[in-house]
Amino acid sequence: MPAPRLSQSAEAARAAALQAEFNEKKWVWVPDDKEGYLAGWVVKEEEDMGEVVIASGGEIRRLPLYALSKMNPPKFDRVDDIADLTFLNEASVVHNLRLRYGSGAIYTYSGLFLVAINPYQHLPLYSDAIVHQYRGKRRDENPPHIFAIAERAWINMGEERENQSILITGESGAGKTESTKKVIQYLAAIATDAHPPQSHSQSPSLTHSNSFNSIMPTAGLPRTSSFKKHGKGMSSSGSGFTAKDRLGLLERQILQANPILEAFGNAQTQRNNNSSRFGKFIRISFSPDGSIAGANIDWYLLEKSRVVVRSEAERSFHVFYQLMEGGGSLKDTLLLDGGVEDYEYLNKSRREVDGIDDKEEWALLKNAFETVGFTVAEQLDLFRIVAAVLHIGNITITETRSNDAVMPDPSQAERVCHLLGITVAEFTRAVLRPRVLAGREWVTQARTQQQALDELSALCKTLYEKSFGMLVDRINRALDRPSSKSTFIGVLDIAGFEIFDVNGYEQLLINYTNEKLQQFFNYHMFTLEQEEYAREGIEWDYVNFGLDLQPTIDLIETSGNAIGILSLLDEECIMPKATDLTFTNKLHALWASEPLPGDEPHPGSSKYEPARFEQGFIVNHYAGRVEYRTDGWLEKNKDPLNDNLTRVLSASSERYVASLFAEYSEAPSLVGALTMGKKRVTKKGAFRTVGQRHKEQLAGLMAQLQATQPHFVRCIVPNTHKKPGRVDVPLVLDQLRCNGVLEGIRIARLGYPNRLPFVEFRQRYEVLTPGVIPRGYMDGRKACLRMVDALELDKANFRIGTSKIFFKAGVLAELEERRDTLL
Ligand code: ADP
Ligand code: MG
Repeated sequence: MPAPRLSQSAEAARAAALQAEFNEKKWVWVPDDKEGYLAGWVVKEEEDMGEVVIASGGEIRRLPLYALSKMNPPKFDRVDDIADLTFLNEASVVHNLRLRYGSGAIYTYSGLFLVAINPYQHLPLYSDAIVHQYRGKRRDENPPHIFAIAERAWINMGEERENQSILITGESGAGKTESTKKVIQYLAAIATDAHPPQSHSQSPSLTHSNSFNSIMPTAGLPRTSSFKKHGKGMSSSGSGFTAKDRLGLLERQILQANPILEAFGNAQTQRNNNSSRFGKFIRISFSPDGSIAGANIDWYLLEKSRVVVRSEAERSFHVFYQLMEGGGSLKDTLLLDGGVEDYEYLNKSRREVDGIDDKEEWALLKNAFETVGFTVAEQLDLFRIVAAVLHIGNITITETRSNDAVMPDPSQAERVCHLLGITVAEFTRAVLRPRVLAGREWVTQARTQQQALDELSALCKTLYEKSFGMLVDRINRALDRPSSKSTFIGVLDIAGFEIFDVNGYEQLLINYTNEKLQQFFNYHMFTLEQEEYAREGIEWDYVNFGLDLQPTIDLIETSGNAIGILSLLDEECIMPKATDLTFTNKLHALWASEPLPGDEPHPGSSKYEPARFEQGFIVNHYAGRVEYRTDGWLEKNKDPLNDNLTRVLSASSERYVASLFAEYSEAPSLVGALTMGKKRVTKKGAFRTVGQRHKEQLAGLMAQLQATQPHFVRCIVPNTHKKPGRVDVPLVLDQLRCNGVLEGIRIARLGYPNRLPFVEFRQRYEVLTPGVIPRGYMDGRKACLRMVDALELDKANFRIGTSKIFFKAGVLAELEERRDTLL
């Protein structure tokens, strides 16, 4: 439906007046550095130049015509689906989003995407009543909403017995995790509605909680004090049972897994007070009768360095502060006799966050642990690692005159070793004087102060990450009930494309992931379009844009027999004397000697040619050119811990600690594993580089996604002040470019983006062709054919299918204009 149906005649008259006014001028969008785009009208055109009057203020500007974007007629204002706009340009897209956002409509469709702009305020959009409103409805029967996406997935799963996925991406703070919670809220509610549990037993904390940590509708908001005020006491129903009161144990366990994950995996950052520092894919499986059968979580790229360092304005993971504030006697067990200010890993940066009560969060965490079924001993193991990290951070290392590292005060190491179940002697030896292989002999090598300190921070990162992995495994054991008969809906909550001033290895991995996800989207859209055109019997002359991004992906992972960035990095990691610079130089040499993918342009794209610069390289991603600096890449990729230390830990008397390092017992070094893997027996998974591990994880994710029917959600940060109501247009445009919405529009424009069923076309535009269609019944297609004939439309601008008529962008605007001059 390209234009809203006009029901009331008064409204019709008003709309016609608006349109008539619009028709008087040649309206355009004028690019503007500050505002993004300004409305104006063209008063003069000379060759390639135009003169435009800016609507607000009347200033006259001269610009090249190509810089101007056509404005959509007023009838297209606030359309639910951007794809229905007749002029599909960036300015119109962002104008529509801004208009809608201004009136509280944070959700908008853009073809296959749901675009969600962070409202930064509590909106009454998620109550049980709203859940009910979306239940069993088609997308076009309701305003755009995240619930509509969840509903679609649920319906498709039920009708087609096919697994579904919902892919949510966006910048940090854009609302991905909140959207994920809303999806799970919706699914839990409708699954419960379909199959109410036998008993109403429930934990009281769940129903009355309005903490940000809870997954319930009122939650998620009160992260800052201003939100907190609004968030308090806003339960969706004052009395009686609401959907959430009726949830069964499994549903509650699934919901309560989230506060646990957030305590260990989220932190306050400058952009987001509750920022997820890892990506996740949550699958909820359903039995054939529609009840929830289980859930499973996969995680990606935990920002483990945060336990050691972070910017001054940010905090470490929530759990550290929660334990310090709420731990009580547990702190004694963990030998934590100080406060946040006493621990080096906590006292160098921000300690408190507005609107977060760490003690309250601690209580919620403990509750969640109980609901999910963690024993006290299991919890103790997790906190043991948290405390050990803090104690390790307080170990002092100094240097002798001959630069040998020493630990002057062993009492700190004693605490660490007590918690980790290892001996102080072995621990200090492994850190200060490890045995290393020199040629064919094992020798003791003294470490410098810096090396020992690095070793300790590497240990903390590894401990934390491994323990996080165990935590997720444990949650999965509680929730996962594999069954051959069930189908799932998976929700992917993962960081979007990142282009910073300085981009490192982390950005490459994130952007590589997003390039793959975008490729997946493109391919999906290609397939759907192809099917639609085939169904409608329309000639199809597209190139397969589903493969547009392959050269960039090849450049990163590998290209046929040739080497990609990640595989070259792996090779360099085992070369003696290799440095970040030798890696960079080899990369440049490789690209100089081989025909680059960019040298043999791929149809439809020529954007991916890599370039070189001294400390790094440039990749042309679909989202833009990104300069990567290669400092520290070898270390980051190897992620090294000396094997003296890992061996000591793998022999820990604490079962939990030993299990974290089980793969390291008696195992060879990284070099050994990579070079002599064939000869030695290595346990699978022990010695992979960070790149290898991510590549494998991503391949696993992609394989799963490919076996699902996907749905796409794009979250947008409206401004950098975390404030409601304001839209910073250049900021939003940047995100639309990075998140593929503009790419989706580019692709749509290659075909016939506007489409109308015959009936609708005839209803709306028959006034333009009086007398062409005889009274009485006439076949829709025939009527359409006669009408386009009479309208003298250019054949290149439309196609007539079996049930719909398809238009190139802009054609409908022309018809609208003609229609309004008549009415
Ligand atoms: P991301 O996961 O993309 O980094 P979050 O989902 O954590 O971002 O959202 C950041 C913050 O923005 C939330 O803590 C909340 O305050 C606010 N927010 C996001 N989505 C919504 C929403 N739909 N309604 C109200 N507030 C929201
Ligand atoms: Mg998040």
